[in-house]
Amino acid sequence: MRRLTEKIKARMTSPDDPRRTQQWLTEYLNDGPTLGQKLGLGWDESLPRFVRDINEVDEIASQNGYPDGGRMQLIDYPNGKHASRVLERIDSVMSRAALSPRLLIPASDGWRPQWRSGTPQSVEQSVFNVAVASVFDLAVAGELSKIRECPHCRKWFVAAKKGKSQRFCSENCRSSAWRTTSSGRESRREYMREYMRRRRYRAQRHTKFERKQLAGKGK
Ligand SMILES: [Zn+2]
Repeated sequence: MRRLTEKIKARMTSPDDPRRTQQWLTEYLNDGPTLGQKLGLGWDESLPRFVRDINEVDEIASQNGYPDGGRMQLIDYPNGKHASRVLERIDSVMSRAALSPRLLIPASDGWRPQWRSGTPQSVEQSVFNVAVASVFDLAVAGELSKIRECPHCRKWFVAAKKGKSQRFCSENCRSSAWRTTSSGRESRREYMREYMRRRRYRAQRHTKFERKQLAGKGK
């Protein structure tokens, strides 16, 4: 509990740094279920879905050029009706957060903002508040789409770049996932056949060489 609450405190009292927020959020999404179980806090499944939902709407909106006419314009997009239903779900998760905005300190490029978690409440509620605030900040900064779930190991990670280039958390997961596809299996079989052929060839050459040497010694 100390580890969790200290992290939350640090997150609440420091001005927002997208990279640190991304780090915090992915750790929270990955460790939250086990940590919640250990501490008897439970785990709110609506949080990972919240992140998935926001990124899904972003993708639908970006596919045909971002709309500039508000939500009504989005409905006419392919998958737009689905997007507006997902937006409603996003709205309802956010409405459950008890947060108030705070202007922390002025800076040359504008004030540093901060969220304050409402009181009094349970640890669960304040974790939920911080998570929603983090997701909100990242979404507004255009940084939430870098928070992704690896389709192979299901771990959340921070992608280096926006755009779809990095789908997997690691090279390991990328190649493991590739090996399970049919073309991946085929190319792996091909690779193994070639590998075995070379090995046999090398072994044959080796014995030939040994025979020659033995024959030489015999002279
Ligand atoms: Zn992975």
